[in-house]
Amino acid sequence: ANLPKDRLRLAIQKSGRLSTDSLDLLKACGIKVKSPKEKLLLHADNFPLDLLFVRDDDIPQLVMDGVCDLGIVGQNVLEESALERGTTSAYVVERTLDFGGCRLAIALPEERPYTGLKDLAGLRIATSYPQLTKRYFAQQGVPAEIVTLSGSVEIAPRLGLADVICDLVSSGSTLEANKLRAVETIFKSTAALIRNARPLNPEKAHAFDIVLRRLDGVQKAAG
Ligand code: ATP
Ligand code: ZN
Repeated sequence: ANLPKDRLRLAIQKSGRLSTDSLDLLKACGIKVKSPKEKLLLHADNFPLDLLFVRDDDIPQLVMDGVCDLGIVGQNVLEESALERGTTSAYVVERTLDFGGCRLAIALPEERPYTGLKDLAGLRIATSYPQLTKRYFAQQGVPAEIVTLSGSVEIAPRLGLADVICDLVSSGSTLEANKLRAVETIFKSTAALIRNARPLNPEKAHAFDIVLRRLDGVQKAAG
């Protein structure tokens, strides 16, 4: 492919919980992009950086494969993807960010009694994060059967697809609406700025230093 040698390429979520905050952060760093989202790839007007708008699930791989130099993605999605790939050496977490906060939690139907993790031994657990869930149960020494679903995890118990779930929670209102209650947090997450692990060429490295300096100023100001 004909990749520009001197422009950073940053992958961000096209449409979802991280999109507005990602764009706002760039704006706060003085990087101007106009009419986002109509195009897949957008050039910043006043900075050597191009934005690629994609599904959040694709961001770790795009960065690890070097298609993009940088990405803004939830640490939950990043960690799941790294476990799937079997290595954490293809990317560097440059900064954790102050948005996209959530936790991956085990939740049970309200009526199911719970005294501790051992109560879940042998149960079926529905999740979109099979790797993180599998790792947690293995670390805790509790056997469990993982049922992988790409969405609507919270209805799995009612459908009889699973006994309990492991899903993202921020406010807890989705759980409540589905008569579930969170009992254990297995992973705490915020968004992060990640970079491909190979060194940037000098032009890009210089531009990235400026991005980081501005970002640190913005994050410090926000406290
Ligand atoms: P896409 O179409 O890009 O695949 P998605 O539906 O998978 O989007 P979103 O729901 O927009 O993803 O969530 C993106 C990220 O936002 C999550 O991976 C997580 O890091 C973060 N997040 C923060 N709060 C929540 C929450 N309450 N539920 C789910 N994700 C949350
Ligand atoms: Zn997604």
